[in-house]
Amino acid sequence: MEQIYTIPVNEAFDLVSEKPECGCPFCVLFRRLQEDELDIILGASMMEPDIRIKTNEQGFCLTHYQMMLKRKRMLGMGLILESHLEEVKKRLSPKMLLGNKMTAAIGALFELEESCYVCTRRDKNLNAMIATAVYLFEADPDFREKLKRTPYFCLPHYRMMIDYAQKKMPKRILPDFYSTVHEIQERYIYTLGNDVSWFCKKFDYRYDDEPWYNSKDSVQRTIKFLSGAPDENN
Ligand SMILES: [Zn+2]
Ligand SMILES: [Zn+2]
Repeated sequence: MEQIYTIPVNEAFDLVSEKPECGCPFCVLFRRLQEDELDIILGASMMEPDIRIKTNEQGFCLTHYQMMLKRKRMLGMGLILESHLEEVKKRLSPKMLLGNKMTAAIGALFELEESCYVCTRRDKNLNAMIATAVYLFEADPDFREKLKRTPYFCLPHYRMMIDYAQKKMPKRILPDFYSTVHEIQERYIYTLGNDVSWFCKKFDYRYDDEPWYNSKDSVQRTIKFLSGAPDENN
């Protein structure tokens, strides 16, 4: 297991165990990874040829274009887009499309639609970090205790984590791992369910004088739990 991932993974689990409102530790890492990638491409490494070759080929998804726009590095963006457009131009030719050539040209455009330099890099690193967390549960007793204090895992990251564990974890550790993470999820969904129910009750005039307890942001928290929290505003 690559050492470079153990530090950020430990930091994310430290953060959410101290501040449960930060939520899923893999969402914390997901956000950090994409911020780092955006810093790199719009910062000093913008003109690095090996990065530029990839950004020219892959382009970006709308979410990441919008995140780049917010950084207001307009010349940097102009330069990145200038050379990306050259790549897109190649995919637009030839002028007349017939038979197999047309299928290939449509395929090339579809590929472009689906590809994003930031998404690709982020997802690759996040997968390695999920693998690292599963490995650390087995190898590091301190991390195991830390993981037990996780407030919850969002469902997509929970699914990715147990999928990896089921495939790669030694069979003697897997039951303990699974019962630990399952317990975290069960506890959270129980309180979340209660909070959402109370939230709905509060719209009934008979509950006007009752306090909100922990229910005011329960709809937002439920969405975070179900879908993850892809940017810092979530
Ligand atoms: Zn998550
Ligand atoms: Zn993207």
